[in-house]
Amino acid sequence: MSGRCAACKYLRRRCPSDCILSPYFPSSDPQRFTSVNRIYGASNVAKMLQELIMPHLRAEAAETLRYEAQCRIQDLIYGCIGVISQLYINKYKIYTECRLAKTRAEIALMNSDGQEPPQAQVDQQI
Ligand SMILES: [Zn+2]
Repeated sequence: MSGRCAACKYLRRRCPSDCILSPYFPSSDPQRFTSVNRIYGASNVAKMLQELIMPHLRAEAAETLRYEAQCRIQDLIYGCIGVISQLYINKYKIYTECRLAKTRAEIALMNSDGQEPPQAQVDQQI
C-alpha cells in the first residue's frame, strides 16, 4: 500500500504497476496531484496522458497540466493567460521606463548645451 502514487493514494485505490499517473504524480508530492485533480479530475488527467500522441512527452504534458491547474487555482478567471498578460504588461512597462530615461537624458544633455530639447518622438514599435 505504501508504494502507491499520489493519485492512487488520494483515490484510495491499489496502484497497478502500469499506473499511468504514477511516474508524474509521486507520493512524495501529493499537492501536485491535488491541484490537477481539482481542476481537471483524475480520470481526465489519466485519459489525457494515456491518449497523448507522443508518449515520450507525457512528463512535459503532466508538468503543463500541473502548472495550468496551479494558475487556475490562483486565478479562476484567467489562469495562465493572466500570467502571460502580466508578463506583456511588465515588458511594456520596462520598455516605457527605458524610453523615459533616454528622453530625460537627452533633455538634460540639451539643457547642458544650452539647446532647446527636441520635440518628443513617439516610437510606434513596442
Ligand atoms: Zn497510481
